Amino acid sequence: MFVRVQGQLVDSYPTPSPQAARGTLLRITEIGEEVLNRPCREITEFGTPELAKLIDDMFHTMHIAEGAGLAANQVGIDLRLFVFDCLDGQGGRHVGHILNPVLEQPPTPERRLLDAPEGCLSVPGARMTVPRTDRATVHGFDQNGTPLTIEGTDYFARCLHHETDHLQGSTYLDRLSKRDRKEALRQMQDRREQVYAERTRREAKMTAALST
Ligand code: ZN
Repeated sequence: MFVRVQGQLVDSYPTPSPQAARGTLLRITEIGEEVLNRPCREITEFGTPELAKLIDDMFHTMHIAEGAGLAANQVGIDLRLFVFDCLDGQGGRHVGHILNPVLEQPPTPERRLLDAPEGCLSVPGARMTVPRTDRATVHGFDQNGTPLTIEGTDYFARCLHHETDHLQGSTYLDRLSKRDRKEALRQMQDRREQVYAERTRREAKMTAALST
């Protein structure tokens, strides 16, 4: 297994990530909340302590909710930023954050769509099959304003797509047929409480582990 942090290969990386260990829990917004339905704002101020803290808190929140990626509007902040700690299904783990990301799709002749189940922390408990391209590249910046390019294949490409969709004000439900969308909302209704109980349990366990 290999690990890339901010796109760079490293020998190993802890789980939970140091960012998650430093951060604190934020409330995850849920489908229907207005902040998820409009495009987020471009970040123009880099290198601030507020930004560093937001990134750590998003990592923590993502870890507690067992997510592979989390966009800022999923914690109620309408800035173009997402974090990820994602396995690609091909032996790779990808950890990082990216600001003002722009998605680049493979050229049409090389575009290959993969159908796979996908979930969203803002649609707790639902999983539906969504077609996505098997490769994706995003261009953006790190928190200090240094240009950054992140490339993904397989499940990580899916994650990069999913998170950039969030920052444009859409969710994976918008990519489903009316019928599948209804099914996703039904799954959420059924499993929502269970998902929230599990998040509470994981937060208590992590708090206990960090305080010893
Ligand atoms: Zn999502």
